[in-house]
Amino acid sequence: MDPPKKHHVVCIPLPAQGHINPMLKLAKLLHHSGFYITFIHTKFNFDRLMKSNGLNSLKGLPDFRFETISDGLPPENQRGIMDLPDLCTAMPIGALVSFRNLIAKLVSSENEDVPPVTCIVSDGVMNFTLKVAQEFNIPEFMLYTPSGCGMLGYLNFEELVKRGYFPLKDEKNLCDGYLETEVDWIPAMKGLKLKDLPTFFRTTNSNDTMFNYNKESVSNAMKSKGIILNTFEELESEVLDAMKINFPNLYPIGPLSLLHKKKSSNSNKQLESIDFNLWKEDVNCIKWLDKMEKGSVVYVNFGSLVIMTTNQLREFAWGLANSKYNFLWIIRPNLVDCGDEVITNDEFVKEIENRGLILEWSPQEKVLGHSSVGGFLTHCGWNSTLESICEGVPMACWPFFAEQQTNCFYACNRWGVGIEIESDVNREQVEGLVKELMGGEKGKEMRRKCVDWKHKAEDATSIGGSSYDNYNSLVLQLKLGQ
Ligand code: UDP
Repeated sequence: MDPPKKHHVVCIPLPAQGHINPMLKLAKLLHHSGFYITFIHTKFNFDRLMKSNGLNSLKGLPDFRFETISDGLPPENQRGIMDLPDLCTAMPIGALVSFRNLIAKLVSSENEDVPPVTCIVSDGVMNFTLKVAQEFNIPEFMLYTPSGCGMLGYLNFEELVKRGYFPLKDEKNLCDGYLETEVDWIPAMKGLKLKDLPTFFRTTNSNDTMFNYNKESVSNAMKSKGIILNTFEELESEVLDAMKINFPNLYPIGPLSLLHKKKSSNSNKQLESIDFNLWKEDVNCIKWLDKMEKGSVVYVNFGSLVIMTTNQLREFAWGLANSKYNFLWIIRPNLVDCGDEVITNDEFVKEIENRGLILEWSPQEKVLGHSSVGGFLTHCGWNSTLESICEGVPMACWPFFAEQQTNCFYACNRWGVGIEIESDVNREQVEGLVKELMGGEKGKEMRRKCVDWKHKAEDATSIGGSSYDNYNSLVLQLKLGQ
């Protein structure tokens, strides 16, 4: 008798680094739990991944395959800097059609080796997938990649409209103290101000693409069979309890990097060698870190989407140089809106000699896990925040946009693992906060708290821990398709 066919999960992330990484970890975990996986990239990213890895093709495994769809943008759009409003406008039209065709192909496949699609695990912000899932009568679960607090922030976008906070009445509200208004209607987020909510409501345009897109995403997520979150119950208990009232099918299974390490990272070498870095990783930093003293290096990285001005870059550069601490700074090719001449400036190069290393892309999780790293200057993207917590590394936070502001509020005011840098950054503040982070009393206290959270994260992902158990329930539900 033939062995029973595997359950087939189609995984589709938003085509951005901070979404691809957690989806890949979840896909690897599910593969380890016996699922057949189809992982979907956009055609544009697939070509880019081959280029950044120097490959002619990206090979999957017989039961872990890749497919591509169009992102809906015209080919002449170079996407050098990711334009989220453009993407969010194009995807519901072009990507929808392409995704529908792909699902139709998979569903009608006569290839004996491809089991029938039993479930779609879609990124919570790939709004168009639910429609296709419903058309084909395939159950859809959503991986929502922001924090729980970020998601609760987005869930309150509807309320911002009802209460008249969106759209802003006047552009001046961005700088006249209005954003300091306390958000007093969300009991689970006590103390939070308007400025700490996801930033997309900060506009006078009632038709704003990003506000409406994100509002639609969370209401869509609520229509899915279940919401998977990359967080753990102990870290965000109040927020998660508040969400469960309206949505009981919530699966906090994070930190995914730890769960993945514990459950499956040694199980299949070929699969584990797959990663989807959109930039080429520079592993030289590990050798450089090996030469540094324990806890002596500030790691600086603003993720994959932040675009800063030359002036902001200059203030960070001189703040870091003047702190006299060692630093490893990742400056992506398109981090600065127009050039990064400050970094090649002779005076700066001389000042940081032997104690500053600047590279384009790092193996971030390995860097944060290196004993020489003592602090992280971050934009508070959710993956970066969680990766830092997993390694017990305290943070200096410079949130840029989206729910990074909410993550920063929680890191600084609830979890005690961060200090905030003002958005209008200046070198004196950077210098002072870096010194505090690396050598001050507050820095020591933050490190102690961060190590406590690291242990709690390890417990949550160990046998009998909250994320471990939630993952097992998720696997069961995915197999039942309910
Ligand atoms: N990352 C990396 N190397 C880098 C910069 C980022 O591997 O030099 C990874 C990082 O570990 C994280 C992701 O890219 O998993 C960035 O996601 P995050 O949510 O922190 O920020 P975003 O890029 O979405 O703003």
